[in-house]
Amino acid sequence: MAAAYLHIPFCEHICYYCNFNKVFIQGQPVGEYITRLLEEIRLVTAQYPDEPIETVYIGGGTPSALTPAQMDRLLTGVNELLPLPQNAEFTIECNPNNLLTMDLLHVFRDHGVNRLSVGVQSFNDDVLKKIGRTHRAKDVYTAFANARRAGFENMSMDLIYRLPGQTQADFTDSLKQAISIDLPHYATYSLILEQRTVFYNLMRAGKLQLPSDDTEADEYEEAMAFFAAHGLHQYEISNFAKPGFESVHNKKYWQNQDYFGFGAGAWGYLDRDRYHNFGPIQQYLAPLRDNKVPVFARQLVSPEEQMEEQMFLGLRMNTGVDRHTFAQRFGMSVEDVFGTTVADLVQRRLLTDDGQHIALTKRGRFMGNDVFEQFLLDDVD
Ligand code: SF4
Repeated sequence: MAAAYLHIPFCEHICYYCNFNKVFIQGQPVGEYITRLLEEIRLVTAQYPDEPIETVYIGGGTPSALTPAQMDRLLTGVNELLPLPQNAEFTIECNPNNLLTMDLLHVFRDHGVNRLSVGVQSFNDDVLKKIGRTHRAKDVYTAFANARRAGFENMSMDLIYRLPGQTQADFTDSLKQAISIDLPHYATYSLILEQRTVFYNLMRAGKLQLPSDDTEADEYEEAMAFFAAHGLHQYEISNFAKPGFESVHNKKYWQNQDYFGFGAGAWGYLDRDRYHNFGPIQQYLAPLRDNKVPVFARQLVSPEEQMEEQMFLGLRMNTGVDRHTFAQRFGMSVEDVFGTTVADLVQRRLLTDDGQHIALTKRGRFMGNDVFEQFLLDDVD
């Protein structure tokens, strides 16, 4: 069974650190985008009649920037075209300032959305201003209270650390305020400076002060200890959940399973076919107006790449890579493919290997990219 990701590329403001595929919503053809997105789903799913959908995730951009009427039309179409099994996970990403009234929340509930992922990032209003966010800490409390009133229980909050102007004490305070809301799932990421962002340009002009690498490592360590102490186990490098609340959708990515990607700039991966849709809105809409799929590039993923990805992605999860699943999928053992790489990394205390599962150690989590690099087959002896 596959996952389905839908991209809504519109935002009401542009955050200074963000390089996602998104545009400022004002003046954009949002209504037509919804129509064409549903057409894309219809065209693509007709090509894969034997690929039932297990989870739906609507991300962005800012899906909650749609009006309730636009959201109602989108979700009506999604339910018709991507029917989910009973109680399957159906997630929408939201910004806190779109949940200050009940309107959208009621639309979500009416259409079977059962999980919210909310971009909070920080509880320090000065830091929020510095990174270009428009919500404030008090909005976060209102948003989650409203969501609970609407009946949502399965909710996640994103926090970012190593932000400009953020001290470790600020981050500690954000963790404490976050946990006071008592959600079953949190995700926390370190700021990454990406090209084509305001922060990247400021950095190049020597005008961006970021906390040091040591502070970043301390903050990550603090988050891991903090969530563990509050009963949220780490199940992936950046994700923490109460038992039973791990994201089913995201786990499908890390298990290297199939997913549909719909919308401008979305990526999909079906039967070894990796495809990438046009990113700019007009380029995405144009082929759909002619009843054609808006795919910009396709690549058949080689078995070697699939094996590399099975390792990188699997190692992101605390359960790690399952040797049995690997052998079943590829007809070869991890050692057949990667030689002594696992044993070498175990010796360097970056991996654990209990004979069945290969996983990152705590030390390995700090050096994830260095570990993943070792599984590039060109580099394996
Ligand atoms: S971080 Fe989210 S809200 Fe901010 S610009 Fe990027 S997609 Fe939009």
